[in-house]
Amino acid sequence: MWYDEDSDDDEQKNIGPMNGKITEKNPNYEKKDKCKCTKGCSKRSCSCFKYGSGCNSSCGCGSSCQNMFNHLEYFFGENQKCTANPCFSKWLVKNVKNSDEFQMIDRNKLRRRIMKCPSYSNVLDDEDFEEWTEKWNTIDKNEKLSHTQELFRMLLSNDTTMYYYSFCENDVFEEDCNWHCIICQKCMDWREWHCDKCNKCTYGVSLPCERCGGKSEVSGFF
Ligand SMILES: [Zn+2]
Ligand SMILES: [Zn+2]
Ligand SMILES: [Zn+2]
Ligand SMILES: [Zn+2]
Ligand SMILES: [Zn+2]
Repeated sequence: MWYDEDSDDDEQKNIGPMNGKITEKNPNYEKKDKCKCTKGCSKRSCSCFKYGSGCNSSCGCGSSCQNMFNHLEYFFGENQKCTANPCFSKWLVKNVKNSDEFQMIDRNKLRRRIMKCPSYSNVLDDEDFEEWTEKWNTIDKNEKLSHTQELFRMLLSNDTTMYYYSFCENDVFEEDCNWHCIICQKCMDWREWHCDKCNKCTYGVSLPCERCGGKSEVSGFF
């Protein structure tokens, strides 16, 4: 069919300039899959923890690892290789001390919070979310948890949907329009970018930084 060919083009367009580099906006891009910690991994000094991802057997930490992001199956379901997106990571770090405390987070409440946010109705036009909602309305009680986890994968992980849920702003955003800066730890507008010299996000569609006149070396924006 002719329409299928068109949709291939659209997919190509989504590969923007941001997708090829590690930046504050895109912190998981080709993240090295191990940290050099010898123990712990419960702080942002651990490169796995910092990016909201779990440790694996090639990390240096071994059995002493206390990286809470090893246990995201509580939110994302068993056997899902998901990392938490930067905004969700920050929210988790703020709300719990370790993965044992995940249980204190009520997944139903979290789902309701997401579904009640102001722009949630916008995502319902999206095919993936339309499908999700249709299913949500028909499934049995005992399937609700895994379906809730699917919603979390769609909005709280570094996955493939165009949207993410922002805890900073309590709203769903298009990935193209907003992003969470892992250095400033706040959701930002697409026009903002992180200036290395100021070590702050700065507003403006053109370089250099309006505050210091410097150029950010890691900004992959331009
Ligand atoms: Zn570590
Ligand atoms: Zn690690
Ligand atoms: Zn570790
Ligand atoms: Zn945020
Ligand atoms: Zn920033």
